[in-house]
Amino acid sequence: MKLPAIGFGTYQMQGEQCVTAVRTALDAGYRLIDTAALYDNEAEVGRAIRESGIPRDEIVLTTKIRGRNHGFDEAQEACRESLRKLGLDYVDLLLIHWPNPQNDRYIDTWEAMVELQEDGLTAAIGVSNFTPTTLDRIIAKTGVTPLVNQIELHPYFQQEKMRELHAELGIITQAWSPLGRKSDLLTDPVLIDIAAEHGVSTAQVALRWTIQLGNIPIPKSTSAARIQQNFDVFSFELNEGDMLAMATLERGTLSSLDPETSEVL
Ligand code: NDP
Repeated sequence: MKLPAIGFGTYQMQGEQCVTAVRTALDAGYRLIDTAALYDNEAEVGRAIRESGIPRDEIVLTTKIRGRNHGFDEAQEACRESLRKLGLDYVDLLLIHWPNPQNDRYIDTWEAMVELQEDGLTAAIGVSNFTPTTLDRIIAKTGVTPLVNQIELHPYFQQEKMRELHAELGIITQAWSPLGRKSDLLTDPVLIDIAAEHGVSTAQVALRWTIQLGNIPIPKSTSAARIQQNFDVFSFELNEGDMLAMATLERGTLSSLDPETSEVL
């Protein structure tokens, strides 16, 4: 399965704003759309895809099974419910949204997803926010390696160890909050200098950095201009000096949730 080099995130988008943003993203050229049961916008995302007129097989749609639906039967029902809301026959990528290690039912969930893939309800399966421990465990128990692990990744949280582990295991890294969401990443002086050098925005620098590391960023925006700007990251290249300067920006996670200990329902 081929994945586009960049995707479109839809967290915190609802109603008509969500339909319009996804349509704008599809018109701008995005072909990877990221939603989740948790985002409560699958109906709107599905509507935007159906109304776009773009052949279904040209779009890679991701959704996620939320924490409260861990378990074999629960996960299978959750996938069917997502498909009903989306108004689609299948998704392209189904992820476990969060491992919820205390609850410890993610292996049952993963086994259910293997079956959902065999039944054609999803083309591929993966995980999100999995750590070395939770990744090792699902692979050891089932023999099935996730196609993707979607993790927090941006210049302030570079995830070197996870990226190395993914490379060893053949897992694709997707980067959530690639723009650092509401942090001061986009006004960081290092990014401002690099952006000026290339005549682009700091957001484009952050996204290009992620792509050059071999990861897939899924930026979110509700503004048509920013949706288009974020997709325009293939006409310039960061040089070695830029990449070295950005390597110094590590600060750690911007999230209050730790996938080793936090539970997300
Ligand atoms: P992002 O890092 O994509 O940042 C989004 C913010 O940046 C918004 O406030 C947006 O505002 C602003 N923005 C977007 N483009 C620009 C630009 N060019 N210049 C300046 N500001 C800009 O944050 P998200 O947390 O939304 O992450 C992206 C996606 O990742 C989510 O939407 C979701 O799909 C996924 N995700 C997955 C998680 C998981 O656990 N698996 C967790 C979190 C996110 P505006 O809309 O006004 O443009």
